[in-house]
Amino acid sequence: MPRPLIETVNLTKIYRMGGQPLAALRDVSVSIAPGEFVAVMGPSGSGKSTFMNLLGCLDSPTSGEYRLAGSDVARLDRDVLAHVRNRYIGFVFQHFNLLPRVSALENVELPLLYGDVPARERHHRAAEALTQVGLANRMDHHPNQMSGGQQQRVAIARALVTRPKVILADEPTGNLDSETSVEVMTLFQELWRAGITIVLVTHEPDVAAFAGRVVNMKDGRVKSDRRQEARNARDALAAAIALRQQEQSEDAEHADAARKEAG
Ligand code: ADP
Ligand code: MG
Repeated sequence: MPRPLIETVNLTKIYRMGGQPLAALRDVSVSIAPGEFVAVMGPSGSGKSTFMNLLGCLDSPTSGEYRLAGSDVARLDRDVLAHVRNRYIGFVFQHFNLLPRVSALENVELPLLYGDVPARERHHRAAEALTQVGLANRMDHHPNQMSGGQQQRVAIARALVTRPKVILADEPTGNLDSETSVEVMTLFQELWRAGITIVLVTHEPDVAAFAGRVVNMKDGRVKSDRRQEARNARDALAAAIALRQQEQSEDAEHADAARKEAG
């Protein structure tokens, strides 16, 4: 067993908003090895996003331990956390969170503005990341000229451009139709094969099926954690496309028959 990339021990987050303290996360102990693809499932309010925000160093736990790549990040101050985040982590969100009126290329360059990467290299690396997600011919498009699936691919390119060890994706297919979801999952599986560690929140079992491990949460706790044979997203996409095409040709036949009958 290699050293875990992510290791939490009794990770706990309690929100105190005015009245009752609310335990959003309770004693979560999870180890994730480099190169794993983990789906986090659970009903709304079960603590999935809270967990992701802690893993992503966007927030600090109330108690418990979190080691990222062996270093204790649970108690770092904000500036150091930001540095760790930039070095190790890429984020993908449900609503893409792109700037609508600047090009895909400029969106992908953004995370590099916080480092001191020279403009030429920023440009080069953003173009490389967009090529990796299959958008080499869309670099000048603005997000508001793109489909949801394309926008999510731009967001994935933006997550990749800093060359992170881990991609954290919170319901990345939540805003996509089912065929586009599978298409986006083919991309996550490619990144997985390339060695990137992925933690992905979803409430859809069909999406979790593409991961190699499923962690189920309820009421802020881990209810189950099991490895599985990941379903191949390329195969699933081919099957979904074939089914759609068959349905479309059946619809066309029906319309044709109806026309003949009427005429
Ligand atoms: P999930 O992503 O599984 O839907 P969340 O992690 O968003 O769940 O929320 C877990 C619980 O913590 C919920 O009861 C939610 O209302 C609460 N919560 C989440 N974020 C905050 C916050 N910033 N302040 C107060 N309560 C919060
Ligand atoms: Mg959530």
